[in-house]
Amino acid sequence: MYDYDLLVVGSANADLVIGVERRPGAGETVLGSDLAVHPGGKGANQAVAAARLGARTALLARVGDDGHGRLLLDSQRAAGVDTVGVLVGGAPTGVALITVDPSGDNSIVVSPGANGRLTPGDVRAAVSLFHASRVVSTQLEIPLETVVEVVRSLSPDSRFVLNPSPPRPLPTEVLAACDPLIVNEHEAKVILGDACVSDAPEDWARLLLAKGPRSVVVTLGAEGSLVASSAEVSRVASVKVDAVDTTGAGDAFTAALAFRLGAGAGLAEAAAYASRVGAVAVTRKGAQDSFPTAEEVEAL
Ligand code: ATP
Repeated sequence: MYDYDLLVVGSANADLVIGVERRPGAGETVLGSDLAVHPGGKGANQAVAAARLGARTALLARVGDDGHGRLLLDSQRAAGVDTVGVLVGGAPTGVALITVDPSGDNSIVVSPGANGRLTPGDVRAAVSLFHASRVVSTQLEIPLETVVEVVRSLSPDSRFVLNPSPPRPLPTEVLAACDPLIVNEHEAKVILGDACVSDAPEDWARLLLAKGPRSVVVTLGAEGSLVASSAEVSRVASVKVDAVDTTGAGDAFTAALAFRLGAGAGLAEAAAYASRVGAVAVTRKGAQDSFPTAEEVEAL
């Protein structure tokens, strides 16, 4: 019996958002709206999304000993995430400085801060969390050597889910552990590099599978997703909704998929559920604020 349905290892950022009429060019200063500060970062987002769906969730992350770190801890606890694995100190909390113009286009500067100080040693010290977790998920907003240590720390019967965002080439050891590797178009193309010679998501999935993952999921925004394993390659439809803000849709999808897989669902079944979760998330503004409860997914 596991204590946690999902252990998320990953980043926690404060998103500092200012609305502007026009994003500034080099050497330019523009006036913007009041500052809005939101809890974010892919790890923190996935943990909140899973907990809101009812998953018993723990987060292994690092934040600074500062106000942004406290904001992140508070938002995790409010969602019901166990923060026993959230380490404090070593650098300021990671920050994303975001300017958004009226058309919705944005410019973002990320300071990884404490996320960059989540070390392989931190992972080894949290081995009891790994033993207690049915599924472990991570992303690439933490050092790659830390992701490698996550893979080495998995219990033999736990499942590993990776969303390689922001994308970079991955060691074979990491790719081979993924079940599934979850990518959007951009991530698929970066990981495939020169091997990507087609515009068909089915081909990306097959080429990615050949790199070692046990399964692959390609997310396609409003077009839904595609799941692939040695047993199947199939499309999963999206749910038609009026999207207002797609921020965090990928994180909500990944968390929901990981949770359902851990509960015993097949890949296509879990992706269909995750599509519903992603669909609700895009109908609301923000990232963590947009993530639905299980009841809200049912009601869709
Ligand atoms: P992110 O912007 O968070 O990085 P992503 O590119 O990783 O997102 P998407 O493919 O945009 O991920 O979205 C993940 C899933 O959410 C999709 O596969 C789909 O099921 C659902 N989704 C996203 N956008 C929409 C939409 N406009 N309408 C319906 N469902 C959507």
